[in-house]
Order: sequence, then structure tokens, then C-alpha cells
Amino acid sequence: MPIPPKTQHFLKKLKATADPVDIAARLEPRADTPPPLMTLPKPSRSAIARIWSRLIRAGVPETARTILADEQTLTGAGHYVGNIENMIGTVKVPVGIVGPLRVNGVFAQKDYFVPLATTEAALVASYARGAKAVGKSGGVSVATLGEGVLRSPAFRFASIAEAGLFVEWVIGSAEKLVAAAESTTRHGRLLSIDPVIDGELVFLMCRYETGDAAGQNMVTFATEALCEYALKSSPVAPRSWFLEANFSGDKKASFLGVMLGRGRRVTAQADIPEDVVEATLGSPIDLILEYGRVANLGSLMTGQVGAQAHFANGLAALYLATGQDVACVAESAVGFTRMERSSTGLLVTVTLPNLILGTVGGGTQLPSQSAGLDILGLKGSGHAPALAEVAAALCLCGELSLTAAVAGGQFGSAHKRLARGKTP
Ligand code: NAP
Repeated sequence: MPIPPKTQHFLKKLKATADPVDIAARLEPRADTPPPLMTLPKPSRSAIARIWSRLIRAGVPETARTILADEQTLTGAGHYVGNIENMIGTVKVPVGIVGPLRVNGVFAQKDYFVPLATTEAALVASYARGAKAVGKSGGVSVATLGEGVLRSPAFRFASIAEAGLFVEWVIGSAEKLVAAAESTTRHGRLLSIDPVIDGELVFLMCRYETGDAAGQNMVTFATEALCEYALKSSPVAPRSWFLEANFSGDKKASFLGVMLGRGRRVTAQADIPEDVVEATLGSPIDLILEYGRVANLGSLMTGQVGAQAHFANGLAALYLATGQDVACVAESAVGFTRMERSSTGLLVTVTLPNLILGTVGGGTQLPSQSAGLDILGLKGSGHAPALAEVAAALCLCGELSLTAAVAGGQFGSAHKRLARGKTP
């Protein structure tokens, strides 16, 4: 069987670095006792100091402490209780502003200054360019189409017949199961319980509204209470059960999410006049559309979930700046971008079925993250739907700008100018 050249090349490189016997020795388990683990104290000035003295004894340079455990962080350490364990400081991620971004949404109705936290040069510039183009076109129209966060426990029974009996019981006990789940939260609502059988296994797709919270903890606690009620009351007992069966799409791109949506499903559209496209984005519409067709084929050929250019860039930066769980970009950055010629210019549409975000809970109340929500004017209860619409409008700006940049041959030069044009 032929060995692919990349494998041969890597093997050669590896052997040049180290002897195979040495490599084998490095991979052996070690018998000596490892140093004691950290003890997971809650964040406080004294706990941070204790951890640092150990790190410094272990050889970590003092400068790292000075930078991470600055006075402002130490004074506000208590804010971080419930958000991190073994805290040693804060990482400063630069924040830039995009906007004003004109959003004509069902919930978001404003010209927004959008904070983006990133270390990636050209990212803010590119989104800002998209915002400029949509601003000259009347703004982005955005509609929230639905919401619902999933948790999906699984129950294993002795047989298919028992699995069927359990599902029959679940259907007959829906009201009690809903009451058990909702007893754990003031804002969460269990919208549906959808059983899926695979042999003797039953998955329950539990779909919740989570108010203004992103909701992953909320749906976990609620579903745990639902499962406990089921275990106590069902006439058939499972042999085993699991609170989450990796069936909900939590932090993964999935086709289930594309079809059902996890979080908020939002669609956004802007119609950019031809002269604005050419003056602001520097590419003719036909070339942008030609590139769009090529890029869509690329998405298809490589099996992407959805078809879009880079939702992840804008979302990760917005999530960092506003205290969202950044790992949720894995599922949130799935969706579709569509571009076509309108009667006056370029019609751009993006749809994001899985926007997991919130304006309360999680990291949203932390000092710098809540400042990010303050810039948007979207802190606290009542604002999560507007934040989702701003996120979708932001993604549209990014799709527009990047697509035009690649089509018009500005992609490399913009990065060269913005990322490499600095003195070290
Ligand atoms: P949370 O901070 O755990 O809970 C939200 C809290 O805000 C609840 O206590 C809720 O009260 C309260 N609340 C007040 N006003 C609200 C309003 N208007 N709308 C909704 N809730 C309101 O946050 P979460 O959103 O449930 O969970 C997000 C966190 O979970 C993130 O930090 C994420 O990293 C983490 N996470 C957890 C899991 C998991 O499986 N456990 C998985 C992934 C991520 P009520 O509960 O009484 O309604």
C-alpha cells in the first residue's frame, strides 16, 4: 500500500529531531510521584497570591505574575467566583469597535457600537468595512425566527419493548415531567420532549426557552430534575442513564442544530447598491458572485456543516467581549450565506440557526465583559434577543467584507498591511 508523501515527510522530519528509541522512552508512563495538584480555591487576592508563590517556586517568571495578576484584577477577584477555578489573573485581549452598525431588527433597533475582542489583525477592519457598506444601504434587516436550547438524556433498557413502554409513559406523563424540570428555574420553560428510540436506547430531546440566559446550566439542572422524576416514577427502570447523550449539539457543529436550531435562530439581510459595493468594498458584483459560487462548491466538496465564509471570526470576538462561553462558537458559527443580484445591487442573506448567547448569567456580569454589553446597551434582562440579532448583523458584515476582499484580490494585501506592517 503506498504511504502518502505527507506521512513519509513527517516521519523523516521526526527522525531527524530525535532517535526512535528516545521517542519511545519519552512516551513511557513515569513512576515518580507527580507534584501535588492545585486545590481549586475560590478566586480571592490571597488565593491568587498562594498559587503564584507556587508557580514562581516552580520557575514561572515573576513578569508573568505582574502582567496577569495586576492590581485591578486582584482588587476585583471576588467578581470571578462562580466563573473560574484556580484563578491566577486575567488575560488582556485587545478590544476594537465596529460601527455604528445599523440594525433594523425585530428586537435590535439601533445604530450599535459593537465591541470585538481579538488578537487577529484585519478582523475589526474587515467587519468595520462591512458595517460601513450596510450603513450606506439603510442597515441590516434582522429577524429572530425561534429559540430553544436542547438537553438530551439517554436511558438504556433491557429490550426494545421496555424502551417502547418507557416512551409510552413519557408521553402520558409529559405534564409532570415539565413540572419537575421547571421547578428548578424561574425563567426556563420546557417547550417539548421528543423521544428518539434506537433499539433498547431512548434519547429524550428536551427543548427549553431560557429567557435572557444562554441557558446551558439552566437546561442541565432542569433536565436532571426531569430525569430524577422519571427514574422515580416510570414503571420500567432503565439499566443505566446519562444526563446528556451528546445528542443535543452542545459545543459541536451538527446537522440536528441546522434543522432544529439550538439557541436562537436568526436571519439577516441587506441589499447593497451597486455603487456602494464598488466604492466601499472595491469589487464588482459579478466577481463577488462568481467567487461566492466557487466558495459554495468548496463548502460542498469539503463536507462543511452549512456554507459560510467566517461566522466564527466575528462571533468569537463578540463572545469574548461580552462574556459568552466562547466554546459555543463551535455550534453558533454554523449557518448559511447567500448572495445574489438584486434589482439595484447585491442582496446578502445570512442565517444562523444556533446562536447560543445571553445577556445575563455565565460570564456576562464579569467586569470587562459587562462593560462590553454596556457599550452595546444590551446588559441584563430583556436584551438577549437583540444581542442575537446584532450578532447575525455582524456576521453579515463579515461575510460581505471577506467575500469582496477575496474576490477583489485584497485579502492577502490587507493582512500584509495590517498584520505585518508593524515594527517588532
Ligand atoms: P447561569 O449563570 O448558570 O444561569 C442563569 C441565571 O440567571 C439563573 O440563575 C437564572 O435564574 C438567572 N436569571 C435572572 N434573570 C434572568 C433572565 N431574564 N433570563 C434568564 N435567566 C435569568 O447561566 P446559564 O445561561 O444557565 O448557563 C450558561 C453557563 O453555562 C455558561 O457559563 C457556560 O459556560 C456554562 N455551561 C454549562 C454547561 C452545562 O452543561 N452545565 C455546558 C456548557 C456551558 P433561574 O434559573 O431561576 O431562571
